[in-house]
Amino acid sequence: MKQAPELNHNRFSLKKKKLKRIAIIGSTGSIGSQALQVIEEHEDEFGLEVLTANRNADLLIRQALRHVPKAVVIGNQSEYNRVRDALAGLPVKVYAGEDALNQVVEMDTIDIVLTALVGFCGLQPTVNAIKSGKDIALANKETLVVAGEYITRLAEENNTMILPVDSEHSAIFQCLVGENTGSLEKIYLTASGGPFRNLSMADLENVTREEALNHPNWDMGEKITIDSASLMNKGLEAIEARWLFNLRPEQIEVVVHPQSIIHSFVQFVDGSMKAQMGLPDMKLPILYALAFPNRLKSSFTRFNFTDYPSLTFEKADTKKFRNLALSFEAMKKGGNMPCVLNAANEVAVEAFLSDRIRFLAMPEIIEETMNKCMFIGNPGLEDYKNTDQESRKIAESLIK
Ligand code: MG
Repeated sequence: MKQAPELNHNRFSLKKKKLKRIAIIGSTGSIGSQALQVIEEHEDEFGLEVLTANRNADLLIRQALRHVPKAVVIGNQSEYNRVRDALAGLPVKVYAGEDALNQVVEMDTIDIVLTALVGFCGLQPTVNAIKSGKDIALANKETLVVAGEYITRLAEENNTMILPVDSEHSAIFQCLVGENTGSLEKIYLTASGGPFRNLSMADLENVTREEALNHPNWDMGEKITIDSASLMNKGLEAIEARWLFNLRPEQIEVVVHPQSIIHSFVQFVDGSMKAQMGLPDMKLPILYALAFPNRLKSSFTRFNFTDYPSLTFEKADTKKFRNLALSFEAMKKGGNMPCVLNAANEVAVEAFLSDRIRFLAMPEIIEETMNKCMFIGNPGLEDYKNTDQESRKIAESLIK
């Protein structure tokens, strides 16, 4: 007998399923590229509206030819003609420059903006996206580090969600789904400890750029890999967590977990704890943020317990890794101090990557910049921009 079609099933639904429409700003970086793989695997769930890149026109062109978004933006204006010509004949609008980036996130057809660019430059497009009512899949942690209070208030006023893509924050977010906010006592952010976890202070003096870029567990962009080696990444993540989950600094603890299997823990007021775990693969938190509140099937490699017979934990060494202590200082001081910390760190990382300073000079530059920059207790958006500029100048002057 012929089976009647299952009318409730998606395949037989008369109405076409509504796609979640995504803009990826910073699509040529590590997170952006992995997000495109995730979207490709779920073409029946996600539609691609916008791709943007700062400088990498070649990769942007290749991505646009393959995924055919509605629009692309190339930050570097001098590449505009090349991108436009390469995409001629496709229904892809091509724009260039910073203003175009800030405007494109406001497009009516976008549901969610994945902020995958690196550094302070993520702030303004995120502000514009929130103001035009888009949900944010936040991979650009610097936005919340610099202006967490401002951004979280703005998101509340505009009734938009900020969904974390950072693996630790995704873990905490996943542990908190279904819990009352008042039930949370504290969080434990896990840190791999980076490639220099077991080095002495003397050894740290001489580490090279190449050694710092060789992360044991995670495949990431250059800036975040250096931040991981110096533990600044964990410091920035503590500040990010503070704003995402509305925590006091005392409620945030860092624990080193070299296997990077447990992505973070939460502890509730009754003493119970939850952890989220899985193999270290950024595609997982990207998929979770884009699909929220649903979970979609994935082909990612599954965790095998016998491959990891022991999961270990240790205290973070804040004497060796000063950046972590400086981050907590900045978080406790509040105001524009995390913005100062972030700007000085961006300058210091850039200088280390171009072999202008040694590894241990980074915390020295950051601390000195924090001492020298003017403190503002209640900054607005313009204050953040000015602080960023001023801190960069101070940090640069300490390098030259
Ligand atoms: Mg992380």
